[in-house]
Amino acid sequence: MRVGYFGGTFDPPHRGHLAVACAARDAFSLDLVLLAPTGKQPLKPDARSAPFADRLAMVELLCEGEVGLEASAIDAPRPDGSPNYTIDTLDRLRATLGSTEASAARLELFVVVGADAFLSLPLWHRPEGLLRAAEWIVVSRPGFSREDLRSVALPEDDAERVHLLESVDVPISATDVRSQLLAGERRLESLTPGVLAYIEARHLYGR
Ligand code: ATP
Repeated sequence: MRVGYFGGTFDPPHRGHLAVACAARDAFSLDLVLLAPTGKQPLKPDARSAPFADRLAMVELLCEGEVGLEASAIDAPRPDGSPNYTIDTLDRLRATLGSTEASAARLELFVVVGADAFLSLPLWHRPEGLLRAAEWIVVSRPGFSREDLRSVALPEDDAERVHLLESVDVPISATDVRSQLLAGERRLESLTPGVLAYIEARHLYGR
């Protein structure tokens, strides 16, 4: 079973996230891509975001009708309020998806990440362990070049597990979407209708 783990704030989830997840699924023949909103981002521990439950519900709506895409609560807020570290998430995924010897042997785990997020990898918790814990699919994002990615110095052995997926070119960010929502924009092509309806019903982002 080939499983992609795609973590993020998803505040809110948008069509850029959808394009990334679908492209990774198709290019790497993934059986399942788990889109997992994070309870507390380690690099932005004090950032304010919509509540976790709303972000998870919106990710569920984003995935609706998409083959092989699923929302996951694996990065729900920790009971002790500590940040969600990807290295721990990967351990938990291996424990749940590969709980028997046979399933563990068959499990192939991929981390799906946008180019901008991959550039911050040296700041993540235990980056060397992370690179060894899974295969990596680094997806292109407007404004980030192949040369930029070279600035992440990878030991030769680890570089083999990092794959670049350059077919995605979607100029959408959650920051821009939040500004558009706050400004009261009516037609928001960056969001799926289900996610937009949820935002309006729950009065998120000033709606
Ligand atoms: P923000 O603008 O608030 O920083 P964001 O749009 O980058 O948000 P996140 O939820 O922080 O969204 O991103 C989760 C993951 O999705 C990250 O790995 C990020 O690089 C990736 N990602 C988000 N949008 C895109 C996009 N348009 N193209 C490629 N990757 C993306």
